[in-house]
Amino acid sequence: MSGTVHIIGAGLAGLSAAVQLSARGRTVVVHEATAFAGGRCRSYHDASIGMTIDNGNHLLLSGNHAALDYLRSLGAQDRLIGPPSAEFSFVDLASGKRWTLRFNDGRIPFWVLDAKRRVPDTGVLDYLPLARLLWLGRGKAVGEVIACKGVLYDRLVEPLLLAALNIDAPLGAARLASAIIRETLAAGGRACRPLIAREGLGPTLVEPALAHLKTRGVEVRMEHQLRSVRFGADRADALDFGRETVELGRDDTVIVAVPPYIAASLLREIVVPTEFCAIVNAHFRIEPPAALPPILGVLNAAVQWIFAFPGRVSVTISAGDRLIDMPREELAKTIWSEVARVSGLPAELAERLPPWQIVRERRATFAATPAQDARRPGAATRWDNLVLAGDWTDTGLPATIEGAIRSGNRAAEIIANRP
Ligand SMILES: Cc1cc2nc3c(=O)[nH]c(=O)nc-3n(C[C@H](O)[C@H](O)[C@H](O)COP(=O)(O)OP(=O)(O)OC[C@H]3O[C@@H](n4cnc5c(N)ncnc54)[C@H](O)[C@@H]3O)c2cc1C
Repeated sequence: MSGTVHIIGAGLAGLSAAVQLSARGRTVVVHEATAFAGGRCRSYHDASIGMTIDNGNHLLLSGNHAALDYLRSLGAQDRLIGPPSAEFSFVDLASGKRWTLRFNDGRIPFWVLDAKRRVPDTGVLDYLPLARLLWLGRGKAVGEVIACKGVLYDRLVEPLLLAALNIDAPLGAARLASAIIRETLAAGGRACRPLIAREGLGPTLVEPALAHLKTRGVEVRMEHQLRSVRFGADRADALDFGRETVELGRDDTVIVAVPPYIAASLLREIVVPTEFCAIVNAHFRIEPPAALPPILGVLNAAVQWIFAFPGRVSVTISAGDRLIDMPREELAKTIWSEVARVSGLPAELAERLPPWQIVRERRATFAATPAQDARRPGAATRWDNLVLAGDWTDTGLPATIEGAIRSGNRAAEIIANRP
């Protein structure tokens, strides 16, 4: 079978499907509504800060095997950088205490036995309840499975789950927390090295894909928004792009890799997540102080993670819905004062707000509650030639780059294996 595969949406799900299918020699056309690829994972030139920044800091881990395979297939694996072993620095703004978690490489968690490597003020026995999070089915929230209190929770479990699930940890779907713990802490330090796109998300995850697809003859049509789909009894018959309608031949197929609220408007009969959580990012144009580690977790503060990039310090606040309506300047000042405190900036720098930008993504991820998780559809649909992809489809992971890429790979596999 050799029809054309139309991929709707050039986010990472759509791009990874395109990379997979073009590698199998399939004819692929990608249709993207906006003028840029990357979707929620993108770089752009920001006039107010006068530099190219990412919409939000994105952290990957060395255990994100689909994301790393995707980069390898593009020859871009060296664009993600991180420390040689898994370590995470933290500061508690309330007490001023600082520590670094240092995981050992293998699966047996020797780091838990070593007071200098584990979370300070915890003992080995504190870690045992985490085993309850290892294998969980659908339906339960984290708060129903473990006690969401105590030093280990405050200093490790909460920051990990808040970052991975983008929701207040007790409310998060335990099945998704379970997948995160299995693929990170339980997989050993080799899977937990933090990786960041130092040169930006675009140059790391998006532009190499576009260049690669070009060499494979894949057409990527920007500003080509799918308006509606015409359906036959059990298949999609045509794609309506407004000024142009693409009639689908017998062997033509479609991967819909758009956000869930768009998918629901195009394909009225599907059930999708309907609630979302925000992520707030603040970017400050300033050379990071030498004492600031590349990634720093901050506790008891508005700020959750600080990233040091060349010429820029950036902050991430997950589950940031309560900050969505705060006046921008007030938010920038609050965040900057915390950054200045933890990075020990001299008073003259701390008191002056450097050029800044706040990016608030209201619908950064679907709300990773058990109820919303239950609304995630699989890739296959009731239409024979139409498959879904996206971080919100039922990947078994929270909405992440890894989930988006796995969903794109899965959709590609279904199309490739169609009889
Ligand atoms: C601020 C922020 C921080 C994040 N941090 C992390 C992190 O640290 N680590 C991590 O792993 N993940 C993180 N994520 C999540 C990650 O960005 C997403 O999971 C991933 O980018 C989703 O990719 P996707 O392809 O599924 O969807 P999207 O990126 O939403 O792509 C969908 C694409 O479809 C296009 N589209 C929509 N409608 C149409 C239409 N009608 N026709 C054609 N095209 C259409 C859109 O324009 C878009 O390009 C973060 C997200 C945000 C917003």
